[in-house]
Amino acid sequence: MKIILFGAPGVGKGTQAKILSHVYHIPHISTGDILRDAIKAETPLGKKAKEYMDHGNLVPDDVMIGLVKEILSSDRCKNGFILDGYPRTVEQAEALDAIFKELQITNYKVINIDVDEKIIIARLTDRYLCAQCGKIYNYSIDHFKSGDKCFKCGGTIYQRDDDKPETVKKRLEIYHTATEPVKRYYEKNHGILNVNGIGEIEEITQRLLQNLGH
Ligand code: AMP
Repeated sequence: MKIILFGAPGVGKGTQAKILSHVYHIPHISTGDILRDAIKAETPLGKKAKEYMDHGNLVPDDVMIGLVKEILSSDRCKNGFILDGYPRTVEQAEALDAIFKELQITNYKVINIDVDEKIIIARLTDRYLCAQCGKIYNYSIDHFKSGDKCFKCGGTIYQRDDDKPETVKKRLEIYHTATEPVKRYYEKNHGILNVNGIGEIEEITQRLLQNLGH
């Protein structure tokens, strides 16, 4: 199974991609996670990406295209993958088409998770996570906030810089200008499945599986 999971920041792509990755035994390729790991490890990629990410800006296309090409060419993707957070610009989508052609990847599905923007803002600014194991906490539900300890592993909980309210606003603006055209690109060139992203996690997973013909 080859899936491109599309949607605005905060629609739950990461959560659903992790679940689908287990269901289909395919790697979850989250460009955001890869960049955050690179920043943590202070690799050359991380050093390049940090300034952009901290301000809610997109990392330049050439960096992202090179990264995704390398990953999709690797052995771990040979039986499928789920792309989460890429492509985010039409240029990235066009480059992906070229990569698919080169690697002879066909029969991929593009799914858009749809959530009202007011709900997205509330969700993103409510999100905290553990620095050690990555577990996600929601302040409104779990009452965990920055500095608290993760109940699973004892790591320190923090809020991503890019989930702070000013940055969330900026990320959504960038989504509208740079990323929404990607949706139209797939509507026109490939076909895109729309899934309602409001509801319980399991409910949304069921909708996704149904759309994927599971
Ligand atoms: P995410 O976790 O997917 O919301 O990504 C977090 C941040 O990583 C984004 O706000 C961007 O700064 C950067 N990023 C992730 N994927 C991409 C991409 N495909 N193109 C450009 N920047 C990206």
